[in-house]
Amino acid sequence: MSLNAAPFVLSMQGEKTVTRKKLSSPLEAGEVALVGAGPGDPDLLTQAAVRLLASCDVIVHDALVPEAILSLGAVDAKRVYAGKRGGRPSAAQQDISDTLIQLAGEKKRIVRLKGGDPFVFGRGGEETRALVDAGVRFRVIPGITSGVAAPAMAGIPVTDRTVNSSIAFLTGHEISDESRIDWSALVAAFPVLVFYMAAKVLPELAERLLNAGLSADVPVAVIHNASLPDETLETGSLQQAKDGCLEAISPSIVIIGEVVNERTPWK
Ligand code: SAH
Repeated sequence: MSLNAAPFVLSMQGEKTVTRKKLSSPLEAGEVALVGAGPGDPDLLTQAAVRLLASCDVIVHDALVPEAILSLGAVDAKRVYAGKRGGRPSAAQQDISDTLIQLAGEKKRIVRLKGGDPFVFGRGGEETRALVDAGVRFRVIPGITSGVAAPAMAGIPVTDRTVNSSIAFLTGHEISDESRIDWSALVAAFPVLVFYMAAKVLPELAERLLNAGLSADVPVAVIHNASLPDETLETGSLQQAKDGCLEAISPSIVIIGEVVNERTPWK
């Protein structure tokens, strides 16, 4: 293709639309707001989240959303717990979508509240697709994802000019046999790895990374309950993580990379 042809091709394929969004304007009857609750401290909610919680009829929430945030709901708002049931994740996800669609049919104003950001390892996409298919009106309010909030709360710069110009966000579920990850390529490409849902599998994960070529003295930080009153930080080496010397309790964010050594503690 000649250089001259390039803009023509782009103009044929490109599409641009103005997509102005309604964030905290009142919900309509039968509308769902898929809202990110952030890592847990109510001070880390967005203003739109606070406004919508205060004026909705129903809050459909996950296990990770603490009482301090749920209590910001309208006094007469009904609460529906939509935690995943062990062993039947897909069925439970279908149940949650069905609940939202049913409540929308009853003309409720619904806040679907999810920890962190709804679209970061939160299956928000599955819920919005189900809502679209059912013809239910919805909006999305982003939240601060724990993979960004946890290092910040711990004083760890998740990017540092001297260390990294990229970050990989992953889930601990990737150590399963169905993993699509090329671990050697991953550690070669990304100096900093941020893992969600990795607490229970930390030794196996560390072993996988060591086998992929990461050095045994790479620092590891485990941040449990970031932004909550009982937040804890534990640090060690990748070798120590493999040897089970780091105690990781769920929910925790695990950060692996030299940025851990750039930590500046604060209170
Ligand atoms: N959508 C969420 C992630 C849901 S997956 C988000 O954007 O943050 C659940 C995982 O998130 C947990 O296993 C844990 O790894 C992480 N997590 C959520 N809240 C956390 C918190 N306050 N502190 C540490 N990790 C947290």
